[in-house]
Amino acid sequence: MGLTPQLSLTKVAHCSSVADSAGAIYERLSPLFPSWQANDQRAFRDLPLFTSAKESWTTIREELLQLLPQGSMPFGDSFPIATQESLPQGDSRDHPLKFQATLTQALVHSRYTAILSRDVGIPAAARFTPKEKARIRSAGGPGSSAFLEALPNRYITRLTNEQMRIACGLRLGFHLVPDDLRLCACGKQLDATANHSMMCAKGGGAFRRHHGIQRAFAQIFKEARPRDAISLERLLISLGHVSPADQHRRMDIVVESALKPTLLADTTVIHPVARLSASAKSSGAAAKIRENQKTKVYRDASRSLQMHFTPLAVEAFGRWGARAISLLKRLAQEKASEAAAPSLGPAFDGDRRPTVNQRVRTNLLKRWYRALSCSLQRGNAQILRHNIVTAREVAGRGPRTLGLHNLSDFLV
Ligand SMILES: [Zn+2]
Repeated sequence: MGLTPQLSLTKVAHCSSVADSAGAIYERLSPLFPSWQANDQRAFRDLPLFTSAKESWTTIREELLQLLPQGSMPFGDSFPIATQESLPQGDSRDHPLKFQATLTQALVHSRYTAILSRDVGIPAAARFTPKEKARIRSAGGPGSSAFLEALPNRYITRLTNEQMRIACGLRLGFHLVPDDLRLCACGKQLDATANHSMMCAKGGGAFRRHHGIQRAFAQIFKEARPRDAISLERLLISLGHVSPADQHRRMDIVVESALKPTLLADTTVIHPVARLSASAKSSGAAAKIRENQKTKVYRDASRSLQMHFTPLAVEAFGRWGARAISLLKRLAQEKASEAAAPSLGPAFDGDRRPTVNQRVRTNLLKRWYRALSCSLQRGNAQILRHNIVTAREVAGRGPRTLGLHNLSDFLV
């Protein structure tokens, strides 16, 4: 679900695999073809293998020239067929080996920047509106698309077909609300891409989504800190002395440890369109705004309780706030350090001891992002379904068929 056409990536793979293998082909086969060595290896370079790869290279280069700002092209004019013999003295084939990664990165990054910031090289009809730009930015970042790679082997990562269809539809900006359904139960207009549905407070769906993410985070804390006491929805007054204004506030998650300071966390979802101008211009702007709001609300209470507060904000299309990401990384790091230590034994040379088991850390983060991403998308789908069912009722229409288990019953 990227922004770069598959055909462009195929051309990148074609020309870079040929460029990468040129040296090896030349070294192994040149004794059989003495003509290759003559005329600056022209006969070798004119082989159909290279001329076709050069065509792919020219297409990609032209695409990049359109997308990149003037003068920032990272590649020269000529297609880099490098044999050991043709390289300058002291050079090695490291450069061609990294060719595909460099080229792909340049193409993907320049297209992403052009689409979101400059519209240069993008045909007018294909340019995105601020709402679409906000969606694309909001659908990025670590863990934002983790639901796409989650196996349904745990309850928390299990999405129904309908939930998966809605999650993909929201991510791609498809029209999910039927044209003849334009009035929400709250009285406002419904838009086809379901932005209003995702933000509408009517029906309590947002509460269920919040609850799902809160439970997913609680599960993560249990896994990361099995010896700590984790409680949900705690009144702040039950934790110690707080000002009268804070006494009736609740904290989503409280993690109490015998060895570490108590952690307070509040989960929150924000739709990027609710902060459209900032969200269209800067990735994660809405999550950051919400983090700051939450930090302000709980600043006094966390100070007087001497506890550490972290806002766990996520944007509706999947982008996590920076504070949530850094907390997840820290939890994974702690857990992975524990995993690294016991197997080494007491006699292990302390100087060479790895401080963290990187594989454990990476796998934990993947697992956690998948659970969180699925919880968010399940919540989004529940909100949309509820919103559409209610809108049909408001319009005096029931479900299209008696089956209530498929969104298509309501959409057609
Ligand atoms: Zn509404």
